[in-house]
Amino acid sequence: MSIQRIKKNDIVIAVRGVMRGKSGKVLEVLKSKDRAIVEGLNLIKKAMRKTKDNPQGGIVKKEGSLPLSGLLLFCPQCKKGVKISRERDGDRRARRCRKCEHSFDG
Ligand SMILES: [Zn+2]
Repeated sequence: MSIQRIKKNDIVIAVRGVMRGKSGKVLEVLKSKDRAIVEGLNLIKKAMRKTKDNPQGGIVKKEGSLPLSGLLLFCPQCKKGVKISRERDGDRRARRCRKCEHSFDG
């Protein structure tokens, strides 16, 4: 079993692609696809059909998924995307910033 590097509600920063340098909160991790949906990142425009609830139709913005490999956890102390180390803390594994030892798991 692999340990998830990035989890829901983490703050991450994009390090690749057109979203590079932008950060946001993880809304959902799509494990099977190795992708994540991050709040405010990779917004895609989606055309909506006219419906009863939405008689105007129109275009809504929605977050598209990003590959996990292009995301790093954002360390609030280093103020940048960082690599993490994992350590065992009782039953759970804590993720820590490799530079400043900030714990991402409380
Ligand atoms: Zn740090």
